[in-house]
Formats: sequence, structure tokens, C-alpha cells
Amino acid sequence: MKNISVIGSGTMGNGIAHLFAQQGFSVALVDLSLDQLNKGMETISKNIDRQIAKGTHTEVEKAAFLQRIVPFTTLSEGVELADLVVEAATEKLEIKLKLFQELDRLAPSSAILASNTSSISITQIAAVTKRPTQVIGMHFMNPVPVMKLVEVIRGYATSEETIRRIMDLSLQLEKVPVEVRDYPGFVANRILMPMINEAIYTLFEGVAGVSEIDTVIKLGMAHPMGPLQLADFIGLDVCLSILRVLHEGFGNPKYAPCPLLVTMVAEGFKGMKSGEGFYCYPAGIKENPVSPRFLS
Ligand code: NAD
Repeated sequence: MKNISVIGSGTMGNGIAHLFAQQGFSVALVDLSLDQLNKGMETISKNIDRQIAKGTHTEVEKAAFLQRIVPFTTLSEGVELADLVVEAATEKLEIKLKLFQELDRLAPSSAILASNTSSISITQIAAVTKRPTQVIGMHFMNPVPVMKLVEVIRGYATSEETIRRIMDLSLQLEKVPVEVRDYPGFVANRILMPMINEAIYTLFEGVAGVSEIDTVIKLGMAHPMGPLQLADFIGLDVCLSILRVLHEGFGNPKYAPCPLLVTMVAEGFKGMKSGEGFYCYPAGIKENPVSPRFLS
């Protein structure tokens, strides 16, 4: 594989483009607007600067990485050379289904179509294409250049050949791939999201404040980040979408999203990417905890 098309340049898409470019692949980065693409490219540039400050990369390498990423606002141009498409667009079923129909029509017939979805069924996504054997879940973790895991999701029709190629590619990217079956939330979010939801309920019910909840989990369970900060980092809208998939997929009320999360997302508080969630992020950096205004 040489040419990778990444669809979506948000939190995950820019990280995935960064990773592939850093490992020598040619990347076409596709989003709906130039504005969104510019934001994605800026984030990649800042993140490489951080790697330079740590001594992992040099200015010369930075120029080479950035040169390997070409932005596109037109899907047909962005995927015409793809050996692999990694879709990292908004976590909404209707968006993914429409995109995969288009990707199937526009990408070379030999290309593998992978989704970075956190929870949506790979089997359902594959079913709208004419190449379900070449559709797979390739679930990177945030921040992509740093986190080692790739959850590889086998849809009902995914072929052995597709699984093998994505497992091999993940190793080539210096990641650790873990193969799982297609089930709501797969493994990572089936376990993580109920914890985050429970932390939000704990706040909602007035048991403790934002920093108290995060401190208990950080210091008590040795997690590097508390669950409320992690929710901000993932994106509160993304957390809500995943919980809705779990709730609908299992039909079990234990996955019902906390009303506080629903209200915060409806009001536009999406966490780090919108500048405010359970904490505020005036310069993209975490500052004081915010006691969500809907609680008083
Ligand atoms: P995001 O909201 O930060 O970015 C989504 C991007 O997709 C936006 O830039 C949007 O403009 C773009 N987009 C929407 N429709 C599009 C289309 N038709 N064509 C091209 N671009 C389009 O979301 P995100 O957090 O990067 O999540 C992307 C995917 O990755 C989701 O499926 C999510 O579940 C998954 N994911 C997220 C995380 C996380 O921590 N945020 C972790 C793992 C997986």
C-alpha cells in the first residue's frame, strides 16, 4: 500500500493523516471545506512541532511529512489513487452510509475501505457497498501518533485477506493491532463509555464536583486522565453518539446517556474542540473545571 485517503480532518482524521505521512505514505486528506482542512493541517503542524521539541523528529522531516499530505474538498479527486481509504468522518450512521456508497463508487475496485468508527456496525456499513469483503474497522485511538492500539474490526463479510493486510499494515505503522468482532461499541468503547457516562451521572446527581471525580479516578485507579477530562478530549458529541449506538444496539437501559451529556451537546459544549466541556480550553489547553451551568 502506498496511497492512503483519509476522510475527515477533525480530531482523528488529522492524527491518522499525520501518522501515515510520518511513516512514508502519500496521504490525500478530504473534508467538506477548505476551512476545516486548514484547521486539520494546522493541528498536524503543531503536533509535529511538539515531536521536534521532544527530539523525535527534525524540521527537515517536518517539511517532508507535510509535503506528503495533500488536502482535497472533492471526494472523487481525494480517493482516485487510493490503495486504502480510512474514513474518519462524524460519528453518525447516515453520514457513514452515504459516504461508503460514494467511496465504493469512486475508489479503485482494489482499494480496502476502512472505517475509524468508534461504535457503528462495520457489517451495516459494508452492506451498502459492492465490496463487503474489502470493508473493515480500523479503530485508532486518540491521539493517533501516540497511542499504540489499533482495534481491527471484522465485519460479517470481511475477508481473511483484508484482515491480514490491515493487521500487517498496523504493525508496519508500529502499532499493536487487536482483532475483535463486530458488536456495538466493539471492545474499547463498550467498556470505556459506561465509565464516562457513570462519571457524568455522578456529577449530575451532585455526588462530587468535576475535579473531585477526575482526581478520584486518576489517583485511585492510576488512570492518566480522569473520565470527565477524557470525555472532553474525545468530544462530548462523539461520546453521546457512541452511547446512543450502545443503548440502541443492546436495548439495555444501563447505556442510556446521562441527561446532562445530552443537554451539554445540544447547547454546543463539545469539550476541547469547542473550547468548553467539563473544563475550559481558552488556548486549546485545559484550564479550570467548569461546573456545567445546567446543574444549578
Ligand atoms: P470530529 O467531529 O472531530 O471530525 C469529523 C470531521 O469529519 C469534521 O472535520 C467534518 O467536517 C468531517 N466530515 C463530516 N462529514 C464528512 C464528509 N461527508 N466528507 C468528508 N468529511 C466529513 O470527529 P472525530 O472525533 O475526529 O471522529 C471521527 C471518527 O473517529 C468518528 O467515527 C469517531 O467515532 C471516531 N473516533 C473518535 C475518537 C475520538 O477520541 N474523538 C477516537 C476513536 C475513533
